[in-house]
Amino acid sequence: MRGAMGIGRSFLLDPRALARSGKSWAGIVPVGRFDRLTRLAGARATAVDVRLDFGLDDQGRCRARGSARLRTGVPCQRCARTVGRAVEADIDLFVLASEAEARALTPGHDTCVVTDPRVPIAELIEDDLLLNFPEHGCEDRDACPHARLGAYRAPSPECAGESSDARRDSPFAVLQGLAATQDSGAG
Ligand SMILES: [Zn+2]
Repeated sequence: MRGAMGIGRSFLLDPRALARSGKSWAGIVPVGRFDRLTRLAGARATAVDVRLDFGLDDQGRCRARGSARLRTGVPCQRCARTVGRAVEADIDLFVLASEAEARALTPGHDTCVVTDPRVPIAELIEDDLLLNFPEHGCEDRDACPHARLGAYRAPSPECAGESSDARRDSPFAVLQGLAATQDSGAG
């Protein structure tokens, strides 16, 4: 059995009880437990690897810190490939009982207002995963390394001034190429 007590397969956590006893929760959560993440990642992702350490801050507030990660395929609009990418989110979240408590906290902290004692784990980490979800399959869409091989290649100002694909051999060559194009085209 993996993870903390009382969770079973429901993936419901009692964050405050975990925090009071200074416990951690680690486990593999099926992507189907995350509505929005499932819509975004579709069938290309299977599970989210989660680790959360719970504790109380000096004012007795429940704080969860840890990480959540998954691997999924993300389509690239430039080369039309689906590229395997890791989605990694660092979690640092206060679990609070009311909006008033959340407002009393120094701005800049992530908060989750939970009125029931137990909360689905998705509610604690899904926002952070969505925020860290890659927008493009290829890390730099404009310097997509597959573009010249792909079936689809959008005409773009950067490509218009480029006579040789050989210059795309390294990311740095691409950057130099872009800079040169911008310089000559700016006047
Ligand atoms: Zn691409």
